[in-house]
Amino acid sequence: MNAQQKIIDRLREYLLVPGEPDARLKPKWLARRLDVPERQLLGALAHCVRDGLVEMHWEVYCPVCGRSPGEFGTLKEAHSKVECTACESCFDLHLDRDVRVTFSATESIRRLRGSGGVPQALEGDSEAQTRGLDLLLIPSFWELFSGEAPADDESLHIGRVTILFTDLRGSTAMYQERGDPRAYHMVREHFAILGRCIDRNHGSLVKTIGDAVMASFASGAEAVRAAHDAQAELHAQAQSMGAELVLKAGVHSGACLAVRLNDRLDFFGGAVNTAARVQGLSLGNDVVVTDTVLADIEAERIENKPRVRVIESFNAQLRGINAPVRVHRLIEVEAETAPQHYLRRLACQTEAIS
Ligand SMILES: [Zn+2]
Repeated sequence: MNAQQKIIDRLREYLLVPGEPDARLKPKWLARRLDVPERQLLGALAHCVRDGLVEMHWEVYCPVCGRSPGEFGTLKEAHSKVECTACESCFDLHLDRDVRVTFSATESIRRLRGSGGVPQALEGDSEAQTRGLDLLLIPSFWELFSGEAPADDESLHIGRVTILFTDLRGSTAMYQERGDPRAYHMVREHFAILGRCIDRNHGSLVKTIGDAVMASFASGAEAVRAAHDAQAELHAQAQSMGAELVLKAGVHSGACLAVRLNDRLDFFGGAVNTAARVQGLSLGNDVVVTDTVLADIEAERIENKPRVRVIESFNAQLRGINAPVRVHRLIEVEAETAPQHYLRRLACQTEAIS
């Protein structure tokens, strides 16, 4: 049985125990109660929503007065403009600032457990909230609910999310050299490696575009670590894959919108454009990041800090973006001897490109 199924079973068991809170459950509280990591629990909860065990509440809180003017059951029902009747203010809904997610047992589960089917709300706990954005960083959520994207005419704000873009260096030549079927197989393998590295570093793969991948994270440090992990794994698997695929990567943290695009959930706007352009500055086996990402890395506790070295910083004029953007090229520092080796490799690459 896989780990996710085990958590789903534990959750079902828990929901059937009479007397336990079963309504308005905060994921962080439930994770502690069931002794499972929150991220795995959120993944399991997405499956439980689909299977009718629990329902999701996207509770909206007013940024002015702190009271809740309402909630929605799915992203499809969300409105970008919210009016708070309590303080008569009107605000743009932000999925990271104004939305907190809770879960309740469905009526059918409540009936199964007896006790008159009365919901027992979780009360008086001080556990931190799970933001609406946090659900969007869970792969199962994308897998199961990306079709429940916001309505066509709605776009939901996200104050800050980290976007990673990757692309393969020299993939056109690879297609020519190896022929389409073999190259396609290698590209698929690289998607699988990237998917694992993104998930392991708490991100979510949003989409693939040709050989490129777009993923979202809560922090810049996690995105950079995911990119470096994938580069290291592609390097390590070069022999078994028959060639070394070299990954280019760019990361930016900023504001964007959650929208419906091609009938599925997608991110759109500033942070996405900048991350895509920054990726264009990568030479391969490096990660190019903006100031906000570098600040994220510096803010990490020492044990979580990605082991990176900034090898150059410069102002870049990015297409479609008016002001120059300060960017930094990072390489992973595996060991004390690594930088020279990387720098030499990078120098060769730079010469080959220019
Ligand atoms: Zn208010």
